Amino acid sequence: MSSIWSRSSGPGSLSIWTRALQGIEFGDGTAKVMAGMTVKDMLLAAGERNLTIITGQDPDVGFGGWLAGAGHGPLTTIYGMGADQVVEMEVVTARGEFLTINNHHHPDIFWAMRGVSPNNGLQRSSQLMIKGGGSTYAIMISATVKTYPNIEVAILSHNYTTTPESEDFWNMLTTFHNEIPYLSDAGVMGYYYAFANLSAVIPNNPEIGIVSVTFLIAEKSTSEAQAILLRMEKKFRSTTIIRDDKSVPNFSQAWAAFPPGSVGLNARLGSRLLDKKALASSNLTSVLKTAMPKKDVRILLGNLVAGRKPVNNAVLPAWRSTYAHVIISKNWEIPSERDASWRDLPQHTQALIDLAPDMGAYMSESDPSDPNWQQNYYGSNYPRLLAIKKKWDPQGVFWCKPCVGNELWSVSDGDGIGQNGGKLCRV
Ligand SMILES: Cc1cc2nc3c(=O)[nH]c(=O)nc-3n(C[C@H](O)[C@H](O)[C@H](O)COP(=O)(O)OP(=O)(O)OC[C@H]3O[C@@H](n4cnc5c(N)ncnc54)[C@H](O)[C@@H]3O)c2cc1C
Repeated sequence: MSSIWSRSSGPGSLSIWTRALQGIEFGDGTAKVMAGMTVKDMLLAAGERNLTIITGQDPDVGFGGWLAGAGHGPLTTIYGMGADQVVEMEVVTARGEFLTINNHHHPDIFWAMRGVSPNNGLQRSSQLMIKGGGSTYAIMISATVKTYPNIEVAILSHNYTTTPESEDFWNMLTTFHNEIPYLSDAGVMGYYYAFANLSAVIPNNPEIGIVSVTFLIAEKSTSEAQAILLRMEKKFRSTTIIRDDKSVPNFSQAWAAFPPGSVGLNARLGSRLLDKKALASSNLTSVLKTAMPKKDVRILLGNLVAGRKPVNNAVLPAWRSTYAHVIISKNWEIPSERDASWRDLPQHTQALIDLAPDMGAYMSESDPSDPNWQQNYYGSNYPRLLAIKKKWDPQGVFWCKPCVGNELWSVSDGDGIGQNGGKLCRV
């Protein structure tokens, strides 16, 4: 499956294989989804029944890890985060009990498991460390989530290109970010990536600055959708626009056909959730230049994933005022470059943190060594989450860094993240 931090693996540990937990049962406005399903499995099943179901963007992302971590996706701006869809879960707790949890039965752990973050479980038995799948609270067996009627969606793929590293490029990138709140409030969702010079990052490509966006606009014709983008596009200077616009009558089926992204890359991510204020900042151009230098670090995707309507669950509160989820990626080609890349990344991420100091980051697509992980990944929910953790898992059966309760443990491996061996000790 697809944890960017490799949270589902670790030397000296026992993994719990959830992939075989397959199946989806549709009810009246809901679907009971087994934890081993992927985005693609869910979309195909919903599409066949002319229904919409909320999933992540990549077809290979697993339901279990995605949902527990809040889970954003192509339609979360209009329907809410993945965790906001859940009405009930079946779980196995650290004590080995199989429980059905909802707002009436065990509401505290039900609150925590919707949005808290997925992670490795780790159990110590004498000298043996056993590591397995599971959130810090329990292993999810299934979740019953809301479903919605089928929707038609306009999918507008626009490549905006300029001369590389030019003022026109930075103007375009800044304008695009300035316009995100307007677009998002008008119902525009989607994904983008930007390179100041495409050929510097991906050899054998043209020397251009590029912002490439897949816009998704529900229940609008392509011409209505194009009209919404026009306000922004008129502001670009010396920009070539290549458009590939279409409308899909059954979104679930159409999205299931998208190819999966790459995994196993030599890359480390930094990210920040940006609110309206950050996106309107007069410093935005200089922040983007710092966050995204000429080579290696690049902004990948944003907006379009917010889920701003509050729900009583453990989703990081910053998501409720988010307009852009911005990710930068530091890559290395040979192992000896890894450490320098890791040391280099935080200074770029810091520019984004300074831009939105009161926001946070999406844990599943961020830097695993963030020293302010409690605040950045859990915000004001952290004290309550820790209390629930101590109640439901007092022995620390489930662990990962940096998940709730991690401050009670120390890891002595080389990178301090816990995936590369070393000892895990109680503090
Ligand atoms: C290519 C790619 C695209 C992505 N796209 C998106 C996206 O569009 N939206 C988004 O929100 N995120 C996205 N992510 C991030 C992704 O949601 C997280 O990495 C998530 O943790 C993946 O979960 P998984 O179950 O596939 O992975 P796994 O590696 O199987 O699990 C990740 C963690 O979750 C835990 N876990 C898994 N299943 C369960 C369970 N049943 N009960 C308890 N804990 C469990 C595991 O123990 C593990 O620690 C993407 C990641 C990749 C690599």
